Amino acid sequence: MARGRRVKAQAPSKGGVGFGAAGTGAAGAPAGAGRAGGADAAALRARLRARGAPAARTRVARLEEELEEARQQLYVAEAAEGFSAAGGAAGGAAGGAAADALVFRQAPTFFDCYPSSVKVYAEVRAPSGELLRVPRRRIAIKNGAESVDVYDTSGPQNVDVREGLPALRAPWVAARAPGGPRRQTQMWAAKQGIVTPEMAFCAAREGADPEFVRAEVARGRAIIPANKRHVELEPTVIGRKFHTKVNANFGNSAVTSSIEEEVEKLQWSTMWGADTVMDLSTGDNIHETREWIMRNSPVPVGTVPIYQCLEKANGDVAGITWELFRETLLEQAEQGVDYWTIHAGVLLEFVPLTAERLTGIVSRGGSIHAKHMLINDHTQNFAYQHWDDILDICAEYDISLSIGDGLRPGCIKDANDEAQFGELRVQGELTRRAWEKNVQVMNEGPGHVPLNKVQENMDKQLDWCSEAPFYTLGPLATDIAPAYDHITSAIGAATIGAAGTALLCYVTPKEHLGLPDRDDVKQGLIAYKIAAHASDLAKGHPRAQIRDDALSAARFEFRWEDQFNLSLDPVTARSFHDETLPADASKSAHFCSMCGPKFCSMKITQEVREIFGSDETAASANSFLTAAAAAEPLAPDAQAEADEGMLEMSAKFREMGDEIYHPEDEIPTGR
Ligand code: SF4
Repeated sequence: MARGRRVKAQAPSKGGVGFGAAGTGAAGAPAGAGRAGGADAAALRARLRARGAPAARTRVARLEEELEEARQQLYVAEAAEGFSAAGGAAGGAAGGAAADALVFRQAPTFFDCYPSSVKVYAEVRAPSGELLRVPRRRIAIKNGAESVDVYDTSGPQNVDVREGLPALRAPWVAARAPGGPRRQTQMWAAKQGIVTPEMAFCAAREGADPEFVRAEVARGRAIIPANKRHVELEPTVIGRKFHTKVNANFGNSAVTSSIEEEVEKLQWSTMWGADTVMDLSTGDNIHETREWIMRNSPVPVGTVPIYQCLEKANGDVAGITWELFRETLLEQAEQGVDYWTIHAGVLLEFVPLTAERLTGIVSRGGSIHAKHMLINDHTQNFAYQHWDDILDICAEYDISLSIGDGLRPGCIKDANDEAQFGELRVQGELTRRAWEKNVQVMNEGPGHVPLNKVQENMDKQLDWCSEAPFYTLGPLATDIAPAYDHITSAIGAATIGAAGTALLCYVTPKEHLGLPDRDDVKQGLIAYKIAAHASDLAKGHPRAQIRDDALSAARFEFRWEDQFNLSLDPVTARSFHDETLPADASKSAHFCSMCGPKFCSMKITQEVREIFGSDETAASANSFLTAAAAAEPLAPDAQAEADEGMLEMSAKFREMGDEIYHPEDEIPTGR
């Protein structure tokens, strides 16, 4: 093995120049020292020490590199064999016997959730030669005569969770720029002008040019969270010039949940469109739970490492040390975590600024760091002090940072205060330092913000954090609706998403009330897919418009099946329709039970079009409407005639008692 060769080659030189004796105090006089003696010997020893330190550093660096290579080869080999053979999702996580005891429920299948959809793969060749299979969901419409393709996050289907997902990225990682530096992050490659397979994959998903993805990653405006160890990942790009993305949180607590439930929530999240997930486990078996999640997640997985660190310290903040935190980071890095929320911007000087708040510090991570600083004689935040060390670990594994907003407002009253914005400014400094080490970054944002204060958050983040992607929790637009905070927050999320936030962290109906279950996860995701899609429409994303137009057309043409199938939640849409009109014949009816057949405005409009008759007259009617919409002035004669007609109709409306609707027999016929 290479490592053995190196050690052997060093042995003679160590004895030959007596380096060991001078540098370590080990037995045996150096040969040179014996000849020179006295002051000369001391000078020689000093020279050798000076030479020895850099040489030792070089050797250590080489050995680390070889160790990393060996680890990578082992990992790729294990991935190729399948995780079951190597211990896999089951063995690696909980150990054989414990894994056997787990009982996984069969979650509803892809087809159960999306009838009339199939998963298709676009085959794309990366510039480096890899053949990429990029997933999409194809929705059949018009009885299969046409289809609409949409972004798909559901991952490979029909996979045994004990086996884990296929190791899609293993060959991509193995083939990384041979001879290049060890720390080949996506940002490093982007700055070198290299389009990685991950970038090409994301570009195909987005319908964007791979070169554009590369340029955005190089500039720091977009990130591709993709730990080298998370080989099951189907990469996604997060940036404001791409589809607005949605994150789903789950994870156990000390009170409830199990590995099986958390894996189920993961599968349920990706089925309903989660672009990333965060495992926020704080209960038992944190490591094992995460291992199951990593091996079964097709989307980037984020964590808040201080949670596990606190668990390791038995829940005692005083027991947290940098060493324990670093150990936790390395443990999670090895498992493949793609991004970390680290609250390094919560500085000591900001803590007093929260004293007058209505709800103080509401971020778990923020409050842990604040307490840690206070009980350690007001020392500065250790994550801030060790930022460079954290960056080195991130660069090693290509882990992205999601710089936490530990001082985010926890209620409407506290929004946009000094503490919140003080931390955001520090986030900017930390972002630029990360970029110097080619570590990808996004910035976390609030929280609870009234709609009139949302834009200021976006503006300041873009300005102070040099346009790194913004990742916000909601924000909740009001605090008065516990049990409906997926809605209060989706309102804020759509507003800030339209302004340019790249990743929206979902909120479930259980927010502020309890740990969400599988159904809550779905509710939260649907609310946030609406917010993200509304943001994309507002930003003018062409693919968002295509899907919207397809559904609008289906609705107008009474293609009920297509309307269901093009919706975010086809099964629920169908069931709501069928509650009142269940018969098959009603799927072609030109009305629904909301307004009924006589008052269906869509039907009436179609009849109006039919009255216009030929395509030519319809076209002329359309051109009239277009001209009106564009506020084109009418010719003077036509304007006079129109004004006269308006006055006449107005008088008639007043004559009839200013009422819009009248019994049929009261309506005068003719003009
Ligand atoms: S009845 Fe009303 S709600 Fe139903 S399709 Fe017609 S216009 Fe739409």
